[in-house]
Amino acid sequence: MNSLDSIRVRFAPSPTGFLHVGNVRTALFNRLLAGRHNGTFILRIEDTDAERSEPKYEKQLMEDLRWLGLDWNEGIDAGGDYGPYRQTNRYGLYDKYAGQLLEEDKAFLCFCTEEELEATRQEQLARRETTVYSGKCRNLTRHEIASKLNEDIPRTLRLRVRPGMVGFDDLVFGRIEIETSQISDPVLLRGDGSPTYNFCCVIDDALMKITHVIRGDGHLSNTHRQILIYEALRIEAPQFAHLSTILGPDGQKLSKRHGATSIEEFRRQGYLPEALVNYLALLGWSPETDGQEIMSLDEISARFDLARVIKSSAIFDTGKLNWMNRTYIVKTPGADLVKKAKQYFVDADLFPAGSGEDSEMDAWLGEVIDLIKTHVDHLDQLPAETGIIYGLAGDSSDIDDAARALLSGAEGRAVAEEFARLVYEKETLTPESYREIAGQVKAATKQKGRNLYHPIRAALTGRDSGPDLEKLVAVYEQGSRLALPRKVMSCRERLHAILESP
Ligand code: GLU
Repeated sequence: MNSLDSIRVRFAPSPTGFLHVGNVRTALFNRLLAGRHNGTFILRIEDTDAERSEPKYEKQLMEDLRWLGLDWNEGIDAGGDYGPYRQTNRYGLYDKYAGQLLEEDKAFLCFCTEEELEATRQEQLARRETTVYSGKCRNLTRHEIASKLNEDIPRTLRLRVRPGMVGFDDLVFGRIEIETSQISDPVLLRGDGSPTYNFCCVIDDALMKITHVIRGDGHLSNTHRQILIYEALRIEAPQFAHLSTILGPDGQKLSKRHGATSIEEFRRQGYLPEALVNYLALLGWSPETDGQEIMSLDEISARFDLARVIKSSAIFDTGKLNWMNRTYIVKTPGADLVKKAKQYFVDADLFPAGSGEDSEMDAWLGEVIDLIKTHVDHLDQLPAETGIIYGLAGDSSDIDDAARALLSGAEGRAVAEEFARLVYEKETLTPESYREIAGQVKAATKQKGRNLYHPIRAALTGRDSGPDLEKLVAVYEQGSRLALPRKVMSCRERLHAILESP
C-alpha cells in the first residue's frame, strides 16, 4: 500500500476565538491533501482549555468552514467511526493510557506547586538557562509518593522524557531534531485530572488513525513532546507537516493591526469565500504549472502537493487578496451577486428590507451592481459607489466640476439642452429611444464623439465619466418607478435638476 492511500487528516481547532486566516489556511491545506488523494478530512474540537473554550466559538468556526466550502466528511456534526470528536466528551478515554504509562514508569506523579515551578523558572532565567522542569519529582520513592498522596497534595502526571535526541522528518521543514534535555517532562494530566492538549492530541490522532498532521509551525515544539509520548505508548506517529506562520507586510506576525484577520470579518466586508480560499491556498503553496492563479477549490485540490509547500514565512498581501476578490466578484453571475450583496444595500438604506425575492427589484439591483462592481474590492463598498445612481435627489453638489464646465460652454450647453428637449417630449426613455435621441441631437447640433456624448453624460449624470450610458438610462428609468427607500430620479428629473442647477 502506498503511503498516500487512505489519507486521514484532521483540522483540530480550539474553540477559544474566531477562526483567523492562519487557522483557515491550516484547515484548507488539510482539506486539500484529503481532496487530492480521496482521503478523509476530519473536524475535531480541542476544548481542553476549559477556561477559554466556548460553545459559541465552536458554532462559529463550523459556520465559517462551511461558508468557505471546507466541508469535512467525518467529525463533529458529521459523525464517523472514531467519535466522539470533541475532546471534553472523550475524557474517560485518556485515563487508560495515563494508567499504562504510570504503570510502566514512563510517567510519574509531580507534586510541585505552581509557586515552586515558577521560582525554578525565575532562577533559570536569571542564570540565562533554558527554562525546563527541574526533575524534582522524577525519582520520588514509593514511600514519598504514598505519603504525599495520603496528604492529598495536588499532583500532575508527567511523561518521563528519556535522554538523547528526539526528531522527526517534517514534510515541509525536513528533519528537525533536538536534545531532550531541552524539553520539560510534559504534563499529561493536570492537577484536576483533566488531560492536556499534548496528551489528548496524541491519543486522538492515534485512535482516529490520522496519517498526516498538518498544522501551524507554532506547534513544532509540541511535536517533539508528542513524538516522545507516541514512543512511550509504542504507537507509530503520523507524518507531520508544519506550515510557516503568516506574516503581515511589515514582517510581523499577522494581527489586528494589519486589518481584518478573522474569517467573520472578511465575510462581513463582503469577501467571497471562493476568493479567500483561492488566495489562502497560494499562501505558501504554488501549483507546478505556474502562472494560473484563479482556481476553484477542486482545481487546487487536483494539483495540491505538500512537497510544494514552502517553509519560509508567507506574507499576507491584502492588495493581492483584493485583486482576487474583484476577479471573483466580476465573474459571479448577476443573480448570485444580488443575493450576496443585497444586505449591504439594505443596511445603507438604499434598498427595502424584507423585499424577499422580488424579481423586478432584484433584477434592477442586479443592473446597478453590474454598473459599479468593477470599482470595489469587497461587496460592502458597493453602496458607496452608487452616488451616480441615487445621487442628485435635492442635492446639486453631486454635480462635479468637470460636468459643470462642460455644461457651461456654449457648445456643450447646446447639446445638453437639445437632448433634454427631446427627452421631455417622451414619457420615458429606453436604451432604444436614448440612441434615437442621441442621433437626433447629433444631426441638430453637428457635434459627434466626445463633443456629443460628454455633454449628454454630464447632463444626465452630473459627471464627466462613468458607466455605459445606455445601461445607466435604463437603471434611472426603472429605478424611478420602484418603491425604494431612497428615491432614484428618472432621466427627465435628472436633466431638470442638473440643467437648472445654479
Ligand atoms: N488545538 C490546536 C490549535 O488550535 C491544534 C493543534 C494541532 O493541530 O495539533 O492550535
